[in-house]
Order: sequence, then C-alpha cells, then structure tokens
Amino acid sequence: MEKTSIYGLTLDQLTSWLVEHGQKKFRAAQVWDWLYKKRVTDFSEMKNVNGDCIKLLDEHFHIQTLDQEIKQESKDGTIKFLFKLQDGNLIETVLMRFNYGLSVCVTTQVGCNIGCTFCASGLLKKNRDLSSGEIVEQIMNVQHHLDEQGKDERVSHIVVMGIGEPFDNYDNMMDFFRVVNDQKGLSIGARHITVSTSGLADKIYKFADENIQINLAVSLHAPNNELRTKIMKINRAYPLEKLMPAIDYYLEKTNRRITFEYILLHDVNDHKEEALQLAKLLKDKRHLSYVNLIPYNPVDEHNQYQRSTKDAIVGFYGTLLDHGINCGVRVEQGTDIDAACGQLRSKQIKKDKEKAKS
Ligand code: SAH
Ligand code: SF4
Repeated sequence: MEKTSIYGLTLDQLTSWLVEHGQKKFRAAQVWDWLYKKRVTDFSEMKNVNGDCIKLLDEHFHIQTLDQEIKQESKDGTIKFLFKLQDGNLIETVLMRFNYGLSVCVTTQVGCNIGCTFCASGLLKKNRDLSSGEIVEQIMNVQHHLDEQGKDERVSHIVVMGIGEPFDNYDNMMDFFRVVNDQKGLSIGARHITVSTSGLADKIYKFADENIQINLAVSLHAPNNELRTKIMKINRAYPLEKLMPAIDYYLEKTNRRITFEYILLHDVNDHKEEALQLAKLLKDKRHLSYVNLIPYNPVDEHNQYQRSTKDAIVGFYGTLLDHGINCGVRVEQGTDIDAACGQLRSKQIKKDKEKAKS
C-alpha cells in the first residue's frame, strides 16, 4: 500500500479516518495540533499521542514528501524554492515579503495545459495534478523554513499563482483551502488567500457557489476576443461572452471585489485603444473591480514578447484611471532570481536534459 501525505486530509477527514481505524475522536485534534501548531516533522515527536496511533499513522502516511532541490534568495528577501516530488517531478514555490505580511505563491499542477503564449509554465505540458497534500506541503515547507530562522514569523497570505491552472484541479484546490484556513491549524484567513484562473467560466460559477471568502483573480490580458485568443488559446473555449457572464454571476453572488490581471506586452496589448476597450468592458462592474497591471517578465522561449515601455505602462494606467477603473501596477519581487512563474523549473529541466545527453 502506498503512503500518502498526511497534509492532504482536512480535519474532518482526519477525524473520520482515525475513528474508522479504531482511534478515539479526540486524537484528531491532538495530531492536528502537532502538525500545524507545533509543526513537528516526524510522527514520533507527537508526545501525547499513544504508540498505537503513531504506528498507525506512520504505516499509512508521510509527513514529508517534498525534497528541497534549490533555494534561491533574492536581495529583496524573496525566496524561491524548487521542490522534487516523490515521483521526481519538479515544482516551484515562492515566499514574498510585503509590508502587510509574508505571502507564499503555490503551484497546483506539474506543468500546465492551458498553454498561454507568454508563460514559462505552459511551455511544458501538464504531467499531472498535485494532490491537496502536495499543495499544503509547500506552505508547510516554507513555514518550517521560517520556524528554523527562529524569528517567530508566519505565512500570513497565500496566492495560488504558481505553475498550473488551479481551477483545472478544483477539488484538490478546495481541500487545500480547507486545511490552511482551519482555525485550529495554520488559520490563514480566507480573505488573505487569492486564487488566479485563466478564466474557466464553468468553474467560476462553481466557485461563486462555495460558501468561502477566498479572493478571485482572473487573468484577462486582453479586452477583445481576437487579441485574447492570440495570446491565450483558452479564449477559444471560454471567449469573453462566456467569461464575463460567469464573472457577473460571481460578483452578484458574493458581492466581493474581483481582480483582473493584465500583463502589459509591448506593442501587443498596451495601446490606448486596448485601455479604452478594457475600461468599457469593465464599466458596469467597476465598483467591484481592480485591474492589476503586470509588467511582463521576459521568458527566454517566448522572445516574440517584450516588456512594455515605462511610458506605455503609465499611459495605460492613466487611461484606466481617467475612466474610473481602480487599478495599480504590480510591484515586482525577486527579479534577480528567475521570478516569473515556471522559469526556475523550466531552466532546471533543461539543465537536467543537457546533463543526461552529455
Ligand atoms: N494559471 C493561472 C494561475 C497561475 S499564473 C492563471 O493563469 O491565472 C499567475 C499569473 O501570472 C497569471 O496572471 C499569468 O498570466 C501571469 N504570468 C504568466 N507568465 C508571466 C510572465 N512571463 N510575466 C508576468 N506574468 C506572467
Ligand atoms: Fe497555465 Fe496560467 Fe501559465 Fe496560462 S498563465 S499557461 S493558465 S500557468
């Protein structure tokens, strides 16, 4: 029987599992506390848990399944981790420092099938979904790293913006939220968690119906179908006339603000005309919208794209503001350490392939 990660279970699931395996219900709260409050890395360290229960857990679950391959630290305090999964696949996790707290960017899939033309993650087809345990474990690894530093720091925010399309791994993503959000555990507030999707409209409807306060970001990147299909082929399956009604449903149902991500690509989507089209597209929902303008992070393999000029960025921003659209330009973190999603991983895979050839 193959062991799975203990982090994959929500508190309810752990409780049922322990009861089904002949343990008392209260053991679940104890184990949970050791995992997420005291944060041990071995079942044998769970001092008030009886030997039988420890043996049972040890037989069925792993605590650590990720191996840290690389840890790159940037001058601004951003740390990028490259982890090896048990099956040898590589994933990335990033820790960023902001004035409001420490935020971790997690990966949800090995590669990505959406294949956006500007993205390093989409260069490599999806190999598989991550389990909920593997997503939680990324947070735990970063938290263990912080614990080792002894400065009493905790991960306070999460962005689901690493490699992969989270809405294409929906159920595991939801279990991940339930684990990290649990008040008896890491207790990371739902309002401090943001999930970004390339725009899978059917899943946006589903997400709107979840009774959860997690923030939603949608990667829009273009204000019309022609341009959006050119840079994001997902727009064929979910063009704007399918995506926008799903967003309207979400806004109506939750009354929560939504973020639209818009990468500025030089001479592709950064003209005044597109800024005007975008303002028009968002006009009726501008009270609940925020546009995050993202300076493009150049990816070696996508050399058809360059970053917009400063003037173009300022101009685009100004046009949106003039039309009453809330917006900002994303402050970049860790630009000296391959910070664009998927870059560290794709470079490492390339290096490994070259090594294998020689
Ligand atoms: N798959 C999801 C979440 C992961 S990508 C999505 O696409 O929304 C997170 C964000 O990073 C997305 O807005 C994506 O468009 C953006 N991104 C991808 N490659 C980038 C690059 N090279 N430079 C800047 N942003 C990039
Ligand atoms: Fe996948 Fe998001 Fe990259 Fe598009 S931007 S290829 S959806 S990870």
